Amino acid sequence: MINYTISYNNPHRHFVDFEFTSKTNGKEKMQFQLSAWRPGRYELADFSQNIQKWGAFDENNNPLPFKKITKDLWEVDTEHTATITVVYNFYANQLDAGSCYLDEHQLYLNPVHCMFYIVDRMEEEFILNLEIPENYEIASSMKKEGNVLSVKGYDLLAESPIICSDSLQHGTYQLDGITFHLWFQGECNPDWKKLNKDFTAFTKSQIKHFGGFPVDEYHYFFQVTPYRSYHGVEHTKNTVLLLGPGNEIMDKRYEDLLGVCSHELYHTWNIKSIRPVEMYPYDYTKENYFRTGFVAEGVTTYMGDMMLYNSGVFNWDEFIKTQNQNLERHLTNYGRFNLSVADSGFDNWLDGYKLGSPNRKTSIYPDAALCMLMVDLEIIRYTEGEESLHSVMKDLYDNFALKGKGYSEDDFRNICVKFGGLKVAEIFENHIYGTQDYIPTLKTALGVVGLELQDKKNTNLSAQYFGFVAVKDNGKVVIKKVEPNSVADKNGIAPEDEITTINGEKIEGKLSDILKECKKEVSFTIKKKFSEKDITLTIENHYQLLEFVKSENINEEQIVLRKVWSN
Ligand SMILES: [Zn+2]
Repeated sequence: MINYTISYNNPHRHFVDFEFTSKTNGKEKMQFQLSAWRPGRYELADFSQNIQKWGAFDENNNPLPFKKITKDLWEVDTEHTATITVVYNFYANQLDAGSCYLDEHQLYLNPVHCMFYIVDRMEEEFILNLEIPENYEIASSMKKEGNVLSVKGYDLLAESPIICSDSLQHGTYQLDGITFHLWFQGECNPDWKKLNKDFTAFTKSQIKHFGGFPVDEYHYFFQVTPYRSYHGVEHTKNTVLLLGPGNEIMDKRYEDLLGVCSHELYHTWNIKSIRPVEMYPYDYTKENYFRTGFVAEGVTTYMGDMMLYNSGVFNWDEFIKTQNQNLERHLTNYGRFNLSVADSGFDNWLDGYKLGSPNRKTSIYPDAALCMLMVDLEIIRYTEGEESLHSVMKDLYDNFALKGKGYSEDDFRNICVKFGGLKVAEIFENHIYGTQDYIPTLKTALGVVGLELQDKKNTNLSAQYFGFVAVKDNGKVVIKKVEPNSVADKNGIAPEDEITTINGEKIEGKLSDILKECKKEVSFTIKKKFSEKDITLTIENHYQLLEFVKSENINEEQIVLRKVWSN
């Protein structure tokens, strides 16, 4: 058993004080490990850089000698010591859906960031004693008695965020004997009736497709910010959602709220239960390389939105908007010529969460979601509507998750091919493992349910005219993306170049508004690291976008299969 006391004195400094005590069990040396990453974000995060002070003491409060073995592993000499106490503090000043944050209004912790496990003793129970203001309430999926939380084993502790504050708003809904909790931290007015109706609908649909829910209760923890934000992190029995601004989450941003919640709930099956064999169990000390990010995030991105549509929470326009967003992100990512979604998923550990070198990689979110749309429709066509991607996921849940096994890349592919035949194998070969153009295959797949792709004008005029995207950054207009072989590329413009003038004038307002007034040619002053020059570009037609539309004439079979698809 490991007893933790968590407290703080000056919340404006954002440092949280931790103290934990444990028996040494007669060991002469003990090792204490802080995680190097967190499940849900497949990159090293090195949380130990937030630790300012660290010390170990025996039962008489005498300091014990210790040294660091790695950047996040401490070793203490515990000879002649029965009980050890470790004291440290942690800088909690990052607010997102998977971080730690402390101020005068709340204490928010993700234990995977800031709490240690004892090497070789990961299975022990953790007791957390929270020293917080008397009027604070605690939101957590851990067992709770007063201000004491408890959980068995580090894996579950790592999956159990905590929010303490005096302004939590709490509601619940029930389904199949399971209580789903909704907790809101931050200024907002939840419309409980609306939330209840919509959340019940998409939860019901997800449970129906899997035939059961993996855990006995579930919590949604909303961190609502006064500014625009959007982020979600999945855990075994809960999810944290960062969303804002608070005054928009029930109207303007409500579709986003539903989108991220349905996505995170789907993760309760897909990644928390249906887990890649490479992460069974998690190794918190280093990279857990796996190539099936396209399953973890691609299937979840696609299915999260599909579940909102098939449960009636999203109408057709709201659903197809999500698919169009995936398509636009795919078409405007020239990394699609370079690295497949499977390879890009593997490289998540390298640079998956940043733009990185130009046009280097695809994404396990939108690109992989489009692959899964193709696989789904091909299975539906091949089986005449008897099976779909839901069948694949249920197979994985029944035959891997519920049997306590991880799945391999081949397992997933083979199950898809079992249901969908050779054409599905080709989708894997060409698009999931390869970098062949998605569009011809996507067009064929969409035909199954009477949909097609039509041209769409790009509203970003610099992209449309010249093939570059620029953003305003600290008052500077900086080029972020350049389409290979576009007029911008051919004239020597590259990412990170700065535009200082357009047609000899300083840039005021939006770039697209200025370009709207231009005809035929535009002259840009481009500043590079060592030089500045004028470049005149002729207006062309780049960056063609496409969008999903319903075909005008559809036959009986397409009508039937469209129903199957959206069921
Ligand atoms: Zn996700």
